Formats: sequence, structure tokens, C-alpha cells
Amino acid sequence: MRYISTRGEAPALGFEDVLLTGLASDGGLYVPESLPHFSLEEIRSWRGLPYSQLAFNVMYPFVDDAIPEDDFRQMLEETYAVFNHKAVAPLVQLDTNEWVQELFRGPTLAFKDFALQLLGRLLDYVLEKRNQHVVIMGATSGDTGSAAIEGCRRCKHVDIFILHPHERVSEVQRRQMTTVHGDNIHNIAVRGNFDDCQRMVKESFGNQGFLSGKTQLAAVNSINWARIMAQIVYYFEASLALGGPDRSMAFSVPTGNFGDIFAGYLAKKMGLPISQLVIATNRNDILHRFMSGNRYEQRTLEHTLSPSMDIMVSSNFERLLFDLHGRDGEAVKALLEDAAKGPVSIEDYRWKHARKLFDSDTVDDQATCDTIREIYEQNEYLLDPHTAIGVRAARNCRRDDKVPMITLGTAHPAKFPDAIAASGLAVKPELPSHMADLFDREERYTVLDNNIAGVQEFIASHWKNA
Ligand SMILES: *Cc1c(COP(=O)(O)O)cnc(C)c1O
Repeated sequence: MRYISTRGEAPALGFEDVLLTGLASDGGLYVPESLPHFSLEEIRSWRGLPYSQLAFNVMYPFVDDAIPEDDFRQMLEETYAVFNHKAVAPLVQLDTNEWVQELFRGPTLAFKDFALQLLGRLLDYVLEKRNQHVVIMGATSGDTGSAAIEGCRRCKHVDIFILHPHERVSEVQRRQMTTVHGDNIHNIAVRGNFDDCQRMVKESFGNQGFLSGKTQLAAVNSINWARIMAQIVYYFEASLALGGPDRSMAFSVPTGNFGDIFAGYLAKKMGLPISQLVIATNRNDILHRFMSGNRYEQRTLEHTLSPSMDIMVSSNFERLLFDLHGRDGEAVKALLEDAAKGPVSIEDYRWKHARKLFDSDTVDDQATCDTIREIYEQNEYLLDPHTAIGVRAARNCRRDDKVPMITLGTAHPAKFPDAIAASGLAVKPELPSHMADLFDREERYTVLDNNIAGVQEFIASHWKNA
């Protein structure tokens, strides 16, 4: 499988190189040159398979000659064995024909574990083969950092440095990062905000001179193709469990960077019958505004009860724009350069096509809290605020009651106790047993000034072979 850039200028790469590369050299994102397509008969034959075997069938075409079949099978078995539910991505019923798929049964209690548990293993496999080392540098406002650290903690060929804004992430989120110990794990609390952290990461990728050519940076944010690939699988899993591919399904997806829902769009293109995909956003609703008015416009960031979806631009949306423009990299490049300067629109017929692919909704904090309370009162089932946004949007946008509606449950409610309290419920969400002692564990992190030279100097002198 070859991968090409959405901006049309960077060289095509194979799977291994795409894994190790963040942005393409032309500023674009890598996408597969062509998608595998599965017949209904083939998909039907996967019914009843364990999750890791289904994952193999869905993902192997993307990997193919980069990793032998048996090695990849084994990697997937190990990856999904660390989840705390035998079914890995179990479905919970909310109402007639309405479901939540619990994607928070991994080590850090958010869906990002599905991809990052695999990514850590993939990186180490490829680096071992090539006798190479990488430094992962990432910025986090919450869930990505902990999932990446958990995913890389056993990697022999990876050092990971995660920057978080000092005193500006929730205590659960901080502890999930800082209580994981290993000589390749480095948490940096920056005296600044999330944007400062992200800027330092971006600039460091642009100029890696501070590493003196002894190692290179690798990315773990959702621009990394392997993350999208791993997220395609659970759409197949949910569908097969509810009678697919012989009936079509609807999915509602709490969305920030458009990674998770883009995976659903790919599942559909690969042959899975999906009749509706709902983009569910919080008040940072650039995607909903585009879908409803054909205007892609950055606004200032709002802090909400669903912080993992607090974004101003949706980086993976570029991958959809590439398809909407007939895979014309030049057109995408021009559009996104304009979008960096001000609001943009696309041709009407392209936008109408996007509206056929997706419905969308925006859900504010009040409606998020109302939904958490309503579902708890109906079912004694506690939603986290991100999943609640998905459920609210699913109910608002539903087209056909006969089609099963599945909301992706992106996080465990115990990660976001403030939102549960704000919903007025007297219940306190409990951490699962493997994390019950989180507040007693020792924390390790280094506080650094909001200064890129200091951060780079820290990284250059703290990676394993420095
Ligand atoms: C990252 C995250 C999201 C948003 O996912 P995208 O792939 O960026 O759309 C939603 N919910 C939770 C809990 C997350 O951690």
C-alpha cells in the first residue's frame, strides 16, 4: 500500500515511513492511495470473530508487505488483550434500537487507547527492524498524552516527551500521565497554556537541529495515519454485533479533530453499510458551521465541559476535503492556505456532497448536562460529557428509527467528574479497579518555563542515548 499527501507535492511513502512521519513535507496529511473494498459476503463471514481477528482483517490491507501476517496478528492480540473487557468494544443499549459503544475499556479510559496501544507496538517493531530510535514529542490538553505514554511505556526504541500546560489539566488527566514511570517517559509541565505547548512541538518538528542528528522526532497526534486506521475497526465490530452487514447502521461521533468520524467515513467506503454519520460537536463547532452553512471559519477557543473536543480547527478535516475535491492536492493546498487567513467556502456541489455524507449538530454545556442527567434518570447509566454530546446529537439528527443508532462512547465518566457534578447528579463516577489507587501513586514531572530553547535543551539531554 502506498500513501499520498493531501497537498499533492510530497513524495508517496510506504506504510513504515508513514508511521514514522508526522506531516508530509508539503504540509499535507498522508492518506492511502486506494482503499481496500470488502464484499458483503466477506464482511458477513467475519461475524463472531474475536476483536483482534476482526482488526486483522480490516487493517492488514493497509499494512501488507511492511509486516508479516503472523507478526501483525500477534501484535493485535497483545494490543487488545490489555483492555478490561473481553469484548474490547462492548455495546450498551440505551433505548429501542439505540446504543453506546464503550470505547473506554483501555488503560487510560478513552478511545484513544485503541490506536495508541497499537501505535506504540508498531513503532517499536519497525524501529527494531531498522535499528533506529525516535523521540516522540507531543502536546496534550488531556487524553492524548496519557494514551500515548501508556502506548509507548514498553517501547525499547522510543523516548516520549509529553508537554502539558502546568496546572491547567484535570487532576485525573495529569495523574494518568505522571504516575507512569519508565526511563523513556518524560512529562514536562510548561508554565504556559496548551497553545504554547503545541507551538513548541510544531516548531521543534520544523527544525530538529537540537537533536544534533542523533535521533528524529515522531508524531502521535491524530495526523498519524496509523491512528485513523485502528479506529476503522470498531465500526465493523458494532455493525456485525447488531446484524450488519445485512442491515445498515447509523453512528453519532463526538468530534474534535475529525479523526474518529473520518474513520467511520472510511469504513463506509470500504463496504460497510452505514446510512448515517452524525458529526457531534461542542460549542467549538467549526465543523457544524461548515456543514450547515458552507463556511469554514476559525473562531476563538471556548473552554467547555468536554475539553477533549475544545479545538479551533479540525486537522483531519483536510483528509475529507481531499476527497471532496476529487483528490486534487493543488486545490486543497490553495483552500487551506486561504483558510489560514480567513473564512472559506467550497463550491456548492462539493458542499452538497458533504451534506449527503454527514449530518451535524452542536451541543452546549447546558444540553450536555441535561443529557447526562436524562440518561442517568432513564437507565442509571452514566455518560461522560463527550459521549453525552454524541447521544444528544444522535437523538436530534436521527433520520430512521428502524436503523440502529450507535453513539461512540469516547471516555469513561470518571475522567470528567466536574461535568457529572455540573449535571446536578448526586452520584460520583468511580474509577475502574485497575486505577482505584491513582490518587496514591507517585507523580513524576518536570516544570519548565514557557521557553522553547529550555524545553529543547531538556529533551536533547534526557533521551536514552543522549
Ligand atoms: C480525542 C477525543 C475526542 C475527539 O476525537 P477526534 O478524533 O479528535 O474527533 C472525543 N472525545 C474524547 C473523550 C477524546 O479524548
